[in-house]
Amino acid sequence: MIKEDCIFCKIANGQIPCNFVYETDEIVAFDDLNPQAPIHTLIIPKMHFETLEDINDIKLLGKLMLAVKEVAKIKNAKNGYRTIINTKKEAGQEVFHMHIHLLAGRPMLWPPG
Ligand code: AMP
Ligand code: ZN
Repeated sequence: MIKEDCIFCKIANGQIPCNFVYETDEIVAFDDLNPQAPIHTLIIPKMHFETLEDINDIKLLGKLMLAVKEVAKIKNAKNGYRTIINTKKEAGQEVFHMHIHLLAGRPMLWPPG
């Protein structure tokens, strides 16, 4: 399902032009508009799910995690990378189409803000 007013649905389904870093029939990855690290790519399902809480398909969840590893390879994040899934408002989610952030290319701090 695609949600009409969802920016990531529009990107995933070609209504907004975007260079995909990675694409399968169910998943796409593209660079974040406002990168927080030298490498900052978003991995998303093409289908609309508001948050991680709304995905119960373990195959899709597995494919998303495998996609993270593929994107890390494509981006040559060989020294390591951080993955983040902001889930709901308090966690900082701003775009309500589930996405995984992949950040790399600089040392990461812990704990995160
Ligand atoms: P979150 O706060 O986890 O919901 O992250 C949303 C992310 O989407 C932010 O890092 C934004 O910079 C990014 N973003 C918003 N609109 C776009 C867009 N059109 N293309 C690429 N990234 C976007
Ligand atoms: Zn969507």
